[in-house]
Amino acid sequence: MAQKPRVAIFDFTGCEGCELNQLNFEDQLLDILAHVDIVEWREAMDDRPGEYDIAFVEGSLSTPDCIKRIHEIRRRAKVLVAVGACAVQGGINGMKNIRPIEQVREEVYGEDKYLFPTLPALPLRAVVKVDHEVRGCPMTQIEFLKVFTALVMGKEPIEPTSSVCTECKLKENECVFTKGMICLGPVTRAGCDAHCPTFGQYCTGCRGLVPEPNLEGMKEILVEHGLSVQEAWKRLQLYNAVELEGVRS
Ligand code: SF4
Ligand code: SF4
Ligand code: SF4
Repeated sequence: MAQKPRVAIFDFTGCEGCELNQLNFEDQLLDILAHVDIVEWREAMDDRPGEYDIAFVEGSLSTPDCIKRIHEIRRRAKVLVAVGACAVQGGINGMKNIRPIEQVREEVYGEDKYLFPTLPALPLRAVVKVDHEVRGCPMTQIEFLKVFTALVMGKEPIEPTSSVCTECKLKENECVFTKGMICLGPVTRAGCDAHCPTFGQYCTGCRGLVPEPNLEGMKEILVEHGLSVQEAWKRLQLYNAVELEGVRS
């Protein structure tokens, strides 16, 4: 019998919400374990260092030790998958990059700041090659399983490149702009089936930006609906501050 793919799961700076979602695979866990060997997972088992076929990695990189560790993981993994907004695009951690890092260290650690060598937060792809991404904050089990199944079957997972608006229109949702809400759907990457607008809420952009986001077009929609461009920019930074570095609001 062919050897099962060896899978390892790692975390960096994040809330571990994506990993908890992986631990909660109650119905599918036995199926998953039948197809792969999980060889490393700090949250669920003791360390068993070695090489692995697929590494799933949560969290952004925000210390010198993170940078060292992600290089080591990359060296040992055939395929590396970034899991969740923090790992894929820097996520909420990226907001610390908006201000000078010294100021952030001072505010968080006070006089102990020299004990904590924190760096501006980075997504994994800023430091190592990332083969695939599972987006969202937190990542959803459905999407994780799609990528996981494709990789175990030796196929290429397909990542959506259109916007949340595309999925929202297909679901025939009423656009929340008409209710006076600022929605980031026009510039946010699809894949969640327009989860928030489907429940009458605005999109906060957790899945990251579409390739080549039309930020000028987004501004025009906001102005057309009498909504604040400044407020929209602040919301956009919540999950996408790293990608927006250097872009003028
Ligand atoms: S993406 Fe969200 S849920 Fe996942 S680790 Fe980051 S903050 Fe937590
Ligand atoms: S509610 Fe949001 S995602 Fe849906 S069409 Fe309007 S702007 Fe796009
Ligand atoms: S609608 Fe937006 S905020 Fe909600 S899950 Fe989808 S990408 Fe994330």
